[in-house]
Amino acid sequence: MKRYSSLLVPKVETDMDKKKAGKKGKGEYSLNQIYFYLTEGCNLRCRHCWITPKYQTGEQIYPALDFDLFRSIINQAKPLGLSGVKLTGGEPLLHPQIHKILDLIRAENLRLTVETNGVLCTPELSQKMAACNNPFVAVSLDSTEAKTHEWLRGVKGCHEATLKGIRNLVKAKFRPQIIMTIMRRNKEHMEPLVRLAESLGAGSVKFNILQPTARGEKMHEAGEALSIDELVKLGQWVENTLSSSTSLRLHFSHPMAFRPLGKMFGENGDGGCGVCGILGILGVLANGSYALCGIGESVPELVFGQAATDRLEDVWSNTPVLLELREGLPERFEGVCRDCLMKDRCLGSCVAQNYYRSRNLWAGYWYCQEAQKQGLFPESRLNHRD
Ligand code: SF4
Ligand code: SF4
Repeated sequence: MKRYSSLLVPKVETDMDKKKAGKKGKGEYSLNQIYFYLTEGCNLRCRHCWITPKYQTGEQIYPALDFDLFRSIINQAKPLGLSGVKLTGGEPLLHPQIHKILDLIRAENLRLTVETNGVLCTPELSQKMAACNNPFVAVSLDSTEAKTHEWLRGVKGCHEATLKGIRNLVKAKFRPQIIMTIMRRNKEHMEPLVRLAESLGAGSVKFNILQPTARGEKMHEAGEALSIDELVKLGQWVENTLSSSTSLRLHFSHPMAFRPLGKMFGENGDGGCGVCGILGILGVLANGSYALCGIGESVPELVFGQAATDRLEDVWSNTPVLLELREGLPERFEGVCRDCLMKDRCLGSCVAQNYYRSRNLWAGYWYCQEAQKQGLFPESRLNHRD
């Protein structure tokens, strides 16, 4: 017999409550959003990067997504339901034809999301992004101190350049999101960063957890990540104390089971991270490959074809991994995700990372697995099985 916890999670009618974001009808899924990893290079060399782009300087230029291919993908994706694109990297604003790309996104009336390190947010590019449909820009900034930010980001002078980029965005009428990845080295800088974000005119601050993926794996091994116990306490402090000291929206990116109910609902979208949209998303890498997301850079079996030769509709409708995810999420989860009351909405936090760590699409998320092992996973969020 099943025994349920005293805390019952309220049902909210969203696509994900039907378990299938992007689901149109029987067996059909909308391709809502494409994540474009526009460049193989990046102008920073961050210690924790999970995409691991090549470091690009003025002398050394690496390939970027061909513009005609970009246009062809958009044309093929619109009949499949495309309503928005995310430009990410490497550093997306390094793309040699970024102006043309933004013009096309605007002309197609697609919702624009950009994830950038901010260094190249010139006044001109900021205005161009602002002219797109309902644009959202997130900028990485890991400390109020140049020394700490540049220790992590690997390039001297990038702290000031990022601050300048944020100011340009604000002048273009953005209220950008600041993203700070928290680790041992900068955990004391969280509150000062919120104050800085307020003074810069940001709209929200997102605290990301250092993921043990690609370069981040080495940082975990070197003891530079915080323990689960520390992260759980920091999350509670952000949600209960720091949030009430600011008018900015604060988001602490620990898995849903650790969030108060009030922080779980009505927060959909790129800034809020309420629901995983994986079933309505496809990634495109800088070389024109289709992939689950940027994880395709390091996991070849999560690359699904080539835009230059494969029809997008075929990739979207027939790729075995995508079909398996549509059929199996969230029922096939293993580990703690299998028993979690949040799994319909959370979808295991990040299937790509779970796969990276275990080569199993259905593996539980490392953070929750570890929390459960240490007795830190909230019992009230578990569906206990006898
Ligand atoms: S984290 Fe972002 S800015 Fe840093 S190297 Fe990776 S893609 Fe570039
Ligand atoms: S156990 Fe899995 S489904 Fe539940 S909150 Fe953690 S990652 Fe999400």
